[in-house]
Amino acid sequence: MRQRTKIIATVGPSCLNNIMIQKLINVGVNCFRVNLSHGTSKEKKKVFQLIKTTITHSGFRPTILADLAGPKIRVSGLRKDMVLNEGEEIVISNEQLGKNVIPVSKNVKFRRVEDGAKILINDGLITLKVIKELSERSLLCKIIIPGVVQNRKGVNFPGVELNIPSLTDQDEEDLKLSLTNGADWIALSFVRAASDYDLVKSKIKNLGYDTPVMAKIEKWEAVNNAKKIINSFDAVMVARGDLGVEVPSEKVPLIQKKIIEKAREAGKPVVIATQLLDSMIERPVPTRAEISDIANSIFDGADALMVTGETAIGKHPKRVIKVLLRVIKETESSINYKNYFKYKRRKILNTARAISHAACSVAHDQRIETIVTMTHTGSTARMVSRYRPKSRIVAMTPFRSIARQLEIVWGIKSFVVSAYDSSDEIPQIANSVLNEEGFLLEKEKFVLTGGVPVGIKGTTNYLSVLKVNH
Ligand code: PGA
Ligand code: MN
Repeated sequence: MRQRTKIIATVGPSCLNNIMIQKLINVGVNCFRVNLSHGTSKEKKKVFQLIKTTITHSGFRPTILADLAGPKIRVSGLRKDMVLNEGEEIVISNEQLGKNVIPVSKNVKFRRVEDGAKILINDGLITLKVIKELSERSLLCKIIIPGVVQNRKGVNFPGVELNIPSLTDQDEEDLKLSLTNGADWIALSFVRAASDYDLVKSKIKNLGYDTPVMAKIEKWEAVNNAKKIINSFDAVMVARGDLGVEVPSEKVPLIQKKIIEKAREAGKPVVIATQLLDSMIERPVPTRAEISDIANSIFDGADALMVTGETAIGKHPKRVIKVLLRVIKETESSINYKNYFKYKRRKILNTARAISHAACSVAHDQRIETIVTMTHTGSTARMVSRYRPKSRIVAMTPFRSIARQLEIVWGIKSFVVSAYDSSDEIPQIANSVLNEEGFLLEKEKFVLTGGVPVGIKGTTNYLSVLKVNH
């Protein structure tokens, strides 16, 4: 059985050689994530180069998601570890220095501090409570959960509105490096507002690219602005690592469900990330709770699941992917996709959506196994995927970059076809690809959908049922 939910694996020391990367592809990884928070630009370039020496089932190099660090605040410039004792006072600052000061990233100012706001260091292992705003660069705090502070650890400020640029100088450098080295998707960490999209997208355009951008939902502001963020970005990720620190972690499951629902409603791919198989960083077998969590993310309707430390620094990267795949296949086999595509239709659908929906409906009514979407921008394929049909979704596009982008979208298998500019050529092209691939029998029916005139985004407007001719 084919896998519908896609797998994204973070690259790191545990898999930084082409043999390992190739193994991960062979086992089932659809896309590799390069985490730009770590390393020098030389090291980052090497990671891109390395991934590009490997090859997927379709004969091309794999899809790369370049993840910009964004405005993450860290302990910065701390010379030696600092012991924090419960109940004592401490200052968080980027202007003062001293024995009782934890220095943080220079580019942040504190704008508005809610009553009782907390500050969390190292994923919440250390917790402080703000007791007084000393200035816009210094906060007096009380130590609630003690511990040892180390330099470079992340600092989260739930309840404090921060004045910090959405793209740091480092991000701009990394963006350029990523685009010139073959990133298919850009992810932006710590997105706060829908307008962050325009900022990144204009930089991408200025560099001569049109790469899609994914918002990582991991800040409380982003949860509040989720709908607008989903509408403006090309995809979203529920980045549960930081999200579970920025909001109380018990709120994460419901946020995940709501974001998936909103993203699917908008036809945008949605990725669920972090701690999916955290225990497998050390151990060769997962916990039952982890398996349940993965299955539930699939039931929620995620397009892709993303592992982070499991493949980047873990001891069993290959086993991690095998486990993911097994859970995906088992869970998907229990889902009744017939019910899935009967999407709550609250409003009138536009032509692209109505045709995409109809494609799924025709395929279902005639028990047709394959829906072929002819797509220049990926839009038609994404629209069909959105309804989660039982049939396989085949995307045919003249562009390798689009084929690679679609690799993270639920259920889509893409093929690169020769360029066409008239709709008359479409049935012939579809027929010959299906023939070559050999997964349809002679005279087997397939649903064909796309948009004419060809090449314009969002114009899905035709639908037909054809038979394969060998
Ligand atoms: P990160 O993003 O690994 O870059 O922090 C994922 C997350 O926060 O869950
Ligand atoms: Mn994060």
